[in-house]
Amino acid sequence: MVRSQHRDLLKIRISGLSNGLHEYHFSSDPSDIGLGSNFTAPVEVNAALDKSSRQMYLKASVQTSGLFACDRCVEEFEQLLEGSYSMLYVYNEYELGNREPAEVQVINPDAVYIDLTEDVRQMTLLSVPLKLLCKEDCKGLCPQCGTNKNIRTCACSEDHADPHRERDIRIIEQMNKESSHAKP
Ligand SMILES: [Zn+2]
Ligand SMILES: [Zn+2]
Repeated sequence: MVRSQHRDLLKIRISGLSNGLHEYHFSSDPSDIGLGSNFTAPVEVNAALDKSSRQMYLKASVQTSGLFACDRCVEEFEQLLEGSYSMLYVYNEYELGNREPAEVQVINPDAVYIDLTEDVRQMTLLSVPLKLLCKEDCKGLCPQCGTNKNIRTCACSEDHADPHRERDIRIIEQMNKESSHAKP
């Protein structure tokens, strides 16, 4: 897979690392960590790793931006994306306790690196808002004539306007598009 080509970009060398707090900064090209071309800015990661002899606790914040189509007016716009996550690395599964699988990873005591790539990639995808609006008060498209009402007003009657129906159609179209992309 092409996506794994530059996997070492988001790796922290833990072999020989002293106990205590260590800070890191990474800047990765989105395509190098398996993100689509709609992510337009380098993925900036600030990470703090607190290491002890039995475990390591990582806190990471992720920032980038992407181009998305507005849910209401379909215009493309740039959205700043920010997220953060924490991860506990333990050396054997007895340390797992009752923690959520998403919060803890078991690593080999002889591991040279921990790889943040997949967690950062997922965090970036999760930071995309469910509702994508070019601006909070976007007026959307006229459901009758398709005019972008942010740009000009049309002569259509407001009475027949049903923005919800329009939006549902767009979501269905989007889903069809995505599922056809998913096919090999
Ligand atoms: Zn809009
Ligand atoms: Zn209209």
